[in-house]
Amino acid sequence: MTEVKYIFVTGGVTSSLGKGIISSSLAKLLQARGYSVTIQKLDPYINVDPGTLNPYEHGECYVTNDGAETDLDLGHYERFLNVPTSQANNVTTGRIYQSVINKERKGDYLGKTVQVIPHITDEIKRRIKLVGSGGKFEIVITEIGGTVGDIESLPYIEAVRQLRWEHGQQNCIVIHLTLVPFLSASKELKTKPTQHSVKMLLEEGIQPDILVLRTEKSLTDDLRRKVALFCNVEASAVVESIDVSTIYEVPIRMQQEMLDATVLRKLGLPAGNEPMLDEWNEFLHKLHNPSHSVRIALVGKYIELADAYKSISEAFIHAGAANETKVELTYVHSEEIDENNYVGILKDYDGILVAPGFGSRGIDGKILTVNYARTNDIPFFGICLGMQCAVIEFARNVLGLEGAHSTEINPKAKHPVIDLMEEQKSVTEKGGTMRLGSYKCELMHGSEAYKCYRKEEIGERHRHRYEFNNRYLTDFRNAGMIPCGMNPQSGLVEIIEIPSHRWFVGVQFHPEYSSTVLRPHPLFVGFVKACIKK
Ligand code: GLN
Repeated sequence: MTEVKYIFVTGGVTSSLGKGIISSSLAKLLQARGYSVTIQKLDPYINVDPGTLNPYEHGECYVTNDGAETDLDLGHYERFLNVPTSQANNVTTGRIYQSVINKERKGDYLGKTVQVIPHITDEIKRRIKLVGSGGKFEIVITEIGGTVGDIESLPYIEAVRQLRWEHGQQNCIVIHLTLVPFLSASKELKTKPTQHSVKMLLEEGIQPDILVLRTEKSLTDDLRRKVALFCNVEASAVVESIDVSTIYEVPIRMQQEMLDATVLRKLGLPAGNEPMLDEWNEFLHKLHNPSHSVRIALVGKYIELADAYKSISEAFIHAGAANETKVELTYVHSEEIDENNYVGILKDYDGILVAPGFGSRGIDGKILTVNYARTNDIPFFGICLGMQCAVIEFARNVLGLEGAHSTEINPKAKHPVIDLMEEQKSVTEKGGTMRLGSYKCELMHGSEAYKCYRKEEIGERHRHRYEFNNRYLTDFRNAGMIPCGMNPQSGLVEIIEIPSHRWFVGVQFHPEYSSTVLRPHPLFVGFVKACIKK
């Protein structure tokens, strides 16, 4: 078998330049040329995974099929590539140190002093090579989190330098993403930050092969030549990444800039045919030419940071395009909803989604929101905590179970309609201990879910500790809230619906994680369709 080729993506000048989107776009183009590609993210923080991070800190926590709690960039990788990622695709400094320390405790280092170089860097290299080792991929793109020059990212850059030396430059290339700021006073684009950032990378032993320059204005040929000269790269390897209206345009832009062709040339791989992007372009065409428009409220408590609900907002973009509909998504703060104002806040929407979440803050606003959607026949979609709120609302207001609640919020609830799973009762550690990853679910014929998925058995990803309490199953069923998706092994309720309502679906799992551009999620597609029908 031929050797796996590695592409490293680093960032300079500032964070949030979109390394994840550039990596995903490049991967998409290479995949569309027939290469098998995967992407890995290395995160320089000490947390073992982002599972215990507040969404305000780091945005959404993304969950893979194999139950890894990961960086939200993995969501982009899956949405662009349509290929599932796994635990191996996201490694943090915490995880690296954890393995090294575990080995040290076992005595694996045989009396040696354990150091950043070579032990930490070796572990980083091992993790990088691990993703490419199964023979499934010809190209591995590794995105290094953080910004060049940070203390935290030094061991990663050093590991890349060593890998390059070991495998040869033709097998390991480095793409460096920087910012070219526009100074409005002098009306000029400035290249100095890029030059400094490349210098910093050089100090750490790496000459980048390709520079991707993030910019608000188009780069002139002169500017490209100047950057090429001062940063020691070919002029054709200076790539413009201009701001665009949607992240899904970026692959097309990168193709125009010939990023994929330059990468393949540098890796000594045949360029082959032009990328097959027909389906992708069809999606973009639908996205840009909608025939309808719907307004959907996303009710949650982390709304100040749009990244906290990244996969949900992206799933609406996919489902909107599939329905040739523009989805105007408004984030509504659940804490601001109360008895006096909820009608005013919610009355103008075609559909309402109650978001996932943890803890008691904003819960009453969510329950009121469900009540409004249920009693006014407004299409409703509840995800995880959103589904649990729908169960609580129904218990209180239809079944008349006063004090019904989730034991997450009220451990002494008189009617614990949502309760801790049996296997969770002995869990004391917070990290990585929820019900995580993909589980099977059987769908009831004739349900909305069945109409959306058009199959009997599905698999969806989970991230929660609490569950529908099956003690109340018959009561709910008799009163018109139907558990219509069940886990075939455990009997846990995965989906509830109210068939007499226009579209009322609550899911215990997270459908948003598996929605991609080429495979929009059936429940999101069904929900948007129901919202149009109004
Ligand atoms: N807090 C709830 C639970 O742990 C819901 C979690 C979620 O919405 N992801 O069960």
